[in-house]
Amino acid sequence: MKAFSELLNQTEFSKDDMMRILSAEENDEQLLFNKVHQLRLKHIGNKVYLRGLIEISNICSKNCYYCGIRKDNKNVNRYLLNDEEVLKAAEYAHKNKFASLVIQGGELESESWTIRIETLLRKIKEISNNELGITLSLGEQSESIFRRWFDAGAHRYLLRFESSDINLYHRIHPNDELHSYKRRMEAIDLLRNCGYQVGTGVMIGLPWQNIEILAEDLLRMKDLDIDMCGMGPYIEHHDTPLYKYKEELIPIQERFNLTLKMIAALRLLINDINIAGTTAMQCIDPEGREKAFKAGANVVMPNITPSKYKDSYLLYDNKPGSNDDEDDSTEKVLKIIEDTGFEAGIGLWGDSPHFKKRN
Ligand code: SAH
Ligand code: SF4
Repeated sequence: MKAFSELLNQTEFSKDDMMRILSAEENDEQLLFNKVHQLRLKHIGNKVYLRGLIEISNICSKNCYYCGIRKDNKNVNRYLLNDEEVLKAAEYAHKNKFASLVIQGGELESESWTIRIETLLRKIKEISNNELGITLSLGEQSESIFRRWFDAGAHRYLLRFESSDINLYHRIHPNDELHSYKRRMEAIDLLRNCGYQVGTGVMIGLPWQNIEILAEDLLRMKDLDIDMCGMGPYIEHHDTPLYKYKEELIPIQERFNLTLKMIAALRLLINDINIAGTTAMQCIDPEGREKAFKAGANVVMPNITPSKYKDSYLLYDNKPGSNDDEDDSTEKVLKIIEDTGFEAGIGLWGDSPHFKKRN
């Protein structure tokens, strides 16, 4: 068998290669992180970009089996930020030179919701002199809605495909029209056609998942020609149907380590995209973000949702809430970036070179 260091020097990777990379331990794992660090400096530099995350609403029409804010969970205090609250958060991001926002929420599809988001996008552009970049993460929508939001000022969209394996996808979602694997995948193509920078991702450590499926997930991301990725460990939520499988999961620390290797493997596979260190990583390990940067991530999304709502956007148990505000303060995040040897991309949109080349 080929030496691991030789494998890392390849530019094309098969599923078996990816599986070997995801299984790397000890010395090989360190070789992987070192190689990925070099690739990152070469292709995207040493900057880490900031996106202020606004969790606009926890009202959702869907019932994904893993998610704490699923429609049928009656133990959630549902909320919807008003325009003033969103604009105040946007002003905070602008003042602190985050340069970009991510607006995320439950999935809703209606004319009034479409107009509400359109109006907000235009207002955010207006109050920031067009300086704030805006990413949306509001679930699947029709092509015309994606277009209207793009025309109103959003230029990036995050829609994780959650798992490329159709059987696994069906086991973690209800089997109905609203949770169609086909529609999810098609939505990613629609976003690209509308002109968005397209982001996707998966959860890592789901029940019934294995290394082979994760390797396929990475290759699917390459096929989809994505520009951005946000991946995180699956963390159980006590009020969800998947909770009953919690004894079958791999230990939480292993889910975390596997996430680091997924980030590194993706950076190896597609050198020039944006990859985020996610909140779910920070939830498992207080140094989760630092470790993610060292494994190849170059984006961080401090949560700037008004504190009083943070305890109601609980996708999984132990998600950082209002008590952890400090962790997402600009000061703390900038310090983490610098202490890890990276440079904060202050005032820069930080579009991925991959997207620029694609256009
Ligand atoms: N409703 C939108 C955006 C909000 S959910 C959508 O679903 O696209 C954002 C992401 O949170 C989902 O894509 C999913 O990958 C992640 N998520 C949900 N429940 C989770 C859990 N229990 N553990 C880890 N991540 C979870
Ligand atoms: Fe709704 Fe997204 Fe949670 Fe699914 S993952 S229930 S679409 S918020």
